[in-house]
Amino acid sequence: ALKAGIVGLPNVGKSTLFNAITQAGAESANYPFCTIDPNVGVVEVPDERLDKLTELVQPNKTVPTAFEFVDIAGLVRGASKGEGLGNKFLAHIREVDAIVHVVRCFEDENVTHVDGKVNPISDIQTINLELILADLESVDKRIERSRKNIKGGDKKYAQEVELLERIKEALYNDKPVRSVELTDDERLIIRDLHLLTQKPVLYAANVSEEEVASADSNPYVQQVRDFAASENAEVVPISAKVEAEIAELEGEDKAMFLEELGLEESGLNRLIKAAYRLLGLYTYFTAGVQEVRAWTIRKGTKAPGAAGVIHTDFERGFIRAEVVAYNDLVAAGSMNGAKERGQLRLEGKEYLVQDGDVMHFRFNV
Ligand code: GDP
Repeated sequence: ALKAGIVGLPNVGKSTLFNAITQAGAESANYPFCTIDPNVGVVEVPDERLDKLTELVQPNKTVPTAFEFVDIAGLVRGASKGEGLGNKFLAHIREVDAIVHVVRCFEDENVTHVDGKVNPISDIQTINLELILADLESVDKRIERSRKNIKGGDKKYAQEVELLERIKEALYNDKPVRSVELTDDERLIIRDLHLLTQKPVLYAANVSEEEVASADSNPYVQQVRDFAASENAEVVPISAKVEAEIAELEGEDKAMFLEELGLEESGLNRLIKAAYRLLGLYTYFTAGVQEVRAWTIRKGTKAPGAAGVIHTDFERGFIRAEVVAYNDLVAAGSMNGAKERGQLRLEGKEYLVQDGDVMHFRFNV
């Protein structure tokens, strides 16, 4: 499963948010492939289409697709120099697909701020600086190695050094690697460096309980929005404290509580959806009478790769896929109806799976 790492300065609300995530957590029996680790919270990805398909097919069981959040506590100033176990935390960040950066936008005199006052932009820059310094170290090491290779007579490394110097220049100017324009080839060259500032970022602006419904009138949130816009990042206003309360409720109670707060959906759901968008993920469905289920793939995945998400055997023995678009299926009212309308297609190995495809795979065992 794909993972987002939760980072942020101490006392900004990370643990509160992470606890809400684990509390709301998914039925782990459904996700045996997910990591079992106290620092990992598995959440179900909310999707109205799955509810609709359940209505249509009436299966024995419905299983949403899942997403993992990793708690990366302990990232503090000086982390890149290995202070306070910092390097270990940076190593954890290397393993995630995206970063959720929690920023304190709430005032509370009972909760100490590490720098003495609430200042989200300075907080963001403190964390970003550590990530930038760590990346600079990785890039420098690689430049040194590539230079040796040039001396050894291998000309292709000249281009690599040019690229690395360009990235280094950006980092020196406090720019994350994700803001540097790169070709696909260039991405490939630096892929194994796993640069931290190349990962997509989402800022979770943690506001007070009183402000959840009107978070955008909070000036700190506005500052975070402006900053995020300058680096093409997304912002999700959230109240970690409220999320912790919401996570303890279910069904009707939850709906009522959200309504009282003036919210359409929980911040956690908005966060999950935003992380999904950020990573360019698609959902496809399988819809049998036993089980209706959602699966996550990356945009651009072909049919065999999508089958492989269910089981590697499905990918290896892939023959064809029967595919109907979600909207067509719902409009037709049933699989047979879609078939009669000629909307059930047979697709082969080169088919690019679309968001919302309902699929049935044929494969050799
Ligand atoms: P972490 O160090 O980033 O993991 O922060 P914690 O989640 O432990 O939160 C630090 C303190 O801030 C705790 O006492 C929380 O109860 C409090 N806190 C977290 N979110 C909010 C919030 O939205 N409003 C208020 N007033 N306090 C919060």
